[in-house]
Amino acid sequence: MPLHINTPLIESRPLSAIAKSTIWLKLDALQPCGSFKLRGVGHACEIHHARGAKGFISSSGGNAGLAVAYAGRQLGIPVTVVVPETTTERAKELLAMEGAKVIVHGSSWQEANQLALTLTTSSDAFIHPFDDPLLWSGHATLIDEVAELGQKPDVVVLSVGGGGLLCGVVEGLRRNGWQDIPVIAVETEGAASFHAAIMAGKPVEIEGISSVATSLGAKRVCDQAFECSTTHHVKSVTVTDQDALDACQRFLLDHRVLVEPACGAALALAYIPHALDRYDNVLLVVCGGATATFAQIQQWSAKK
Ligand SMILES: *Cc1c(COP(=O)(O)O)cnc(C)c1O
Repeated sequence: MPLHINTPLIESRPLSAIAKSTIWLKLDALQPCGSFKLRGVGHACEIHHARGAKGFISSSGGNAGLAVAYAGRQLGIPVTVVVPETTTERAKELLAMEGAKVIVHGSSWQEANQLALTLTTSSDAFIHPFDDPLLWSGHATLIDEVAELGQKPDVVVLSVGGGGLLCGVVEGLRRNGWQDIPVIAVETEGAASFHAAIMAGKPVEIEGISSVATSLGAKRVCDQAFECSTTHHVKSVTVTDQDALDACQRFLLDHRVLVEPACGAALALAYIPHALDRYDNVLLVVCGGATATFAQIQQWSAKK
């Protein structure tokens, strides 16, 4: 039994009416820890567990850390998550609820990550949030589930942070013989490291992250994500923070599910008129995210 669940695939009447194409939602917001991350992280943790790992270490104060904490608790392996001082109380609370040991260190993710790496002994496994082939093959199960239902879409729409989800979805399309299906990779303007890589013709580090979509906040995408764009039809699209926030609020009303702005970025394509006009059947990956409260989304929205 994998640690993630097989999530519902539903046709969205409200989004289909706005987008003027049939929108299929893959509801990974319903994973037990609130995001698709459990697919890849759960797979990686199971393999490290089988190899005899005695502890799991993560440096993510976001959904990757939550997925590691969840996987560790399920497998009976202690988890340590090192997070920077900027991590919200909400995120620390969720990690603690999963029974992880939370260490707050440094003013940025880089510093937290440094400490996490030095804490990783030879008997522990360090779980990267996006740059690991084990994660990608776990994320690919999202496409396996759609293929099992025989619901072949014309396009897949998803969000990109460090690119792990993109790598996994492309792997899933390939292993199901769906390599002809294009992918639209969406980011917010203030976190557009994939877009920067496409422009530069190679992965590059962007100066900083200025978006509320913190789960998309990787300054540089992994090499494999860029590689995917050279071997698969991947279109890069950016939206504003306000588009992503509006999408979160409208999606809550339409489907009664609260997601992070990181997920709102992909949802925004269905809410922006004509963005998906060319496609009859759209698979929209509702990647989820547990770290933003509704009050926080309203606050961000009021400030824009
Ligand atoms: C991690 C995450 C992303 C981005 O995934 P990558 O694999 O880093 O590209 C998008 N949305 C949510 C909610 C996430 O947790």
